[in-house]
Amino acid sequence: MVQDSFKPVVVWLILNGKTEEALSLLAKNYAVNVPRLKVGLPKGHKIKALGCYTAKHETIAVLNSDVLSNPFVVIHEFYHHLRSKAVDKMRRGTEKNADRFALSFLQEYQAAVKKAQNIT
Ligand SMILES: [Zn+2]
Repeated sequence: MVQDSFKPVVVWLILNGKTEEALSLLAKNYAVNVPRLKVGLPKGHKIKALGCYTAKHETIAVLNSDVLSNPFVVIHEFYHHLRSKAVDKMRRGTEKNADRFALSFLQEYQAAVKKAQNIT
């Protein structure tokens, strides 16, 4: 795949409910295991969270099926998956970095949409 279209394609897949496909694409691109995906947050989790990542089970959990097609949440949690293998804790990344990572995908998606609109 052309590197240019990688991020927009990931966002598009998630928006269209093909979240599992998006996660395998992400995993392949970053050479990590494909994380498991689960609907429903673990017990005891803060109600207001939309998603969470459990490194022990390599699982991304989302609040409900609506959140499955929310690219920001899914990509944010994938960042935690990506960083969970880092040896030292400092390198594991922060919430801010996870947000920035997710945002870069959304921005490239929006830019790609704009470009496509200008062509037609
Ligand atoms: Zn987070």
